[in-house]
Amino acid sequence: MKHARVAIAGGSLGGLTAGLLVRDLGMDVTIYERSPAELEQRGAGIGFLPDSYRYLVERAGMPLDEISTFTTRIQYLSRDGGVTHDEPHSYRFSSWNMVYRSLLEHFGRDRYMLGCEMTEFASETGGVRIEFADGKTDEVDLLVLADGVSSRFRSQLLPGVRPEYAGYVAWRGMTPEASLDSSIRNVLDDAITYFIYANSHILVYPIPGLDGSLVRGERLMNFVWYRNYHDDGDLADVLTDSNGVQREISLPPGAARVHHVDELHAVARARLPSVIAAVVMAAPNPFLQVVYDVEVSRMAFGRACLIGDAAWVARPHAAAGTAKAAADGWALAAALESHDTVEEALAAWEPEQMQLGRQLLERTRRIGARSQFDGTWKPGDPELIFGLREPGR
Ligand SMILES: Cc1cc2nc3c(=O)[nH]c(=O)nc-3n(C[C@H](O)[C@H](O)[C@H](O)COP(=O)(O)OP(=O)(O)OC[C@H]3O[C@@H](n4cnc5c(N)ncnc54)[C@H](O)[C@@H]3O)c2cc1C
Repeated sequence: MKHARVAIAGGSLGGLTAGLLVRDLGMDVTIYERSPAELEQRGAGIGFLPDSYRYLVERAGMPLDEISTFTTRIQYLSRDGGVTHDEPHSYRFSSWNMVYRSLLEHFGRDRYMLGCEMTEFASETGGVRIEFADGKTDEVDLLVLADGVSSRFRSQLLPGVRPEYAGYVAWRGMTPEASLDSSIRNVLDDAITYFIYANSHILVYPIPGLDGSLVRGERLMNFVWYRNYHDDGDLADVLTDSNGVQREISLPPGAARVHHVDELHAVARARLPSVIAAVVMAAPNPFLQVVYDVEVSRMAFGRACLIGDAAWVARPHAAAGTAKAAADGWALAAALESHDTVEEALAAWEPEQMQLGRQLLERTRRIGARSQFDGTWKPGDPELIFGLREPGR
């Protein structure tokens, strides 16, 4: 298997990590990314868990302190801005851009094919035949499907599986620290800061600046604000962009209609503590991601496999989506290394990754229900700590 030919559909964080790891085994890897240009600021800030930075630190030799911010406390504010809960706990945060750029630099651009949309694949004796939108074809030994939450290949392989709307979306934005008053910066500086109110919650944390700066005052304050929208027209309306096109998964920066941004700002002013409202008000071009659950019944299909958000999708409350995608890649490389055939490796790889996805989905469903529907979110509850395998891990 050492020189096996491997194709990866999707060149985001999951596809890149798997591609790097499988290439490190000596395999001949090409990543095919549908987007015609290199990807940008997909997810703003990310909670940076050990699996998310493992490749960059262990294999690419990047010091963790150069690619992430560090917070030492978890704090909750009351409506009037008082601190109602303060707990020592360290987290690392990075930005989607920084992680993507670092992984891509390490993979190189020779075998990172932009503007290549994979459309079909068929397992044949001894290989997998793949097809692209431009009519080109190729034949490989292993196909890794890392095509994200709206994966066409998941739909083809598991036609009954659909992303299930969680009942709420995440409004997100990033505010340059420099644009915030120093009294606000002092409150938010080295903490992750939460505010919980009826059927909603918002969190704010510092991430690297757009130029990667980790210097205090040059970073960005990232917010994630979970807000409920009914599925009977309310959601479709907020997802209709400024050109009148209804999106399904997200609204990128600049696409939200002005009256929805005005409403966001009005609610921020009326209902959030003033320091958090200030971050929301000053964030240029807030954007939106719909929160979905996806539950799959299989991840391995002969010589092809689903990884990352193309397989299980869990709500963001454990900050573990990128970590899960990376963990799928690490386990895949280990299985390929210790088995004689691709089919045997994938069959051995699948059960643990299925369990990982299922556990994460169940945990994040419980957490989301507490704030968005049940009103039972309790600051200090150990289950709320970020982590892939369990809280804190
Ligand atoms: C609100 C929110 C907050 C989040 N916060 C965090 C966090 O703090 N920490 C964290 O770790 N995760 C977080 N996540 C989750 C994280 O963004 C995802 O889990 C992660 O990006 C999944 O990566 P992926 O590579 O599997 O898929 P994606 O990033 O979705 O990438 C899929 C790629 O496949 C490409 N593609 C699609 N179809 C084709 C095709 N046919 N051919 C070729 N290419 C194709 C797409 O263009 C895309 O680049 C958050 C998610 C949300 C919604």
